Amino acid sequence: MDCQHEETKVVESRKKEDGRVCRRRVCEICGHRFSTVEIPVEEYLKFCEFKKNLPTD
Ligand SMILES: [Zn+2]
Repeated sequence: MDCQHEETKVVESRKKEDGRVCRRRVCEICGHRFSTVEIPVEEYLKFCEFKKNLPTD
């Protein structure tokens, strides 16, 4: 189960082929390790732009 602490630090960060970033994080309070997948803001904006330009019907 995930801890609810907010003091975490990134121990490893790896970019995936699709532009998302995989991060290994560790909680500084209890040492709990977990990973997150983040979409960089630029990629996200590009995605929004892409969706905006899709035809709607
Ligand atoms: Zn914790």
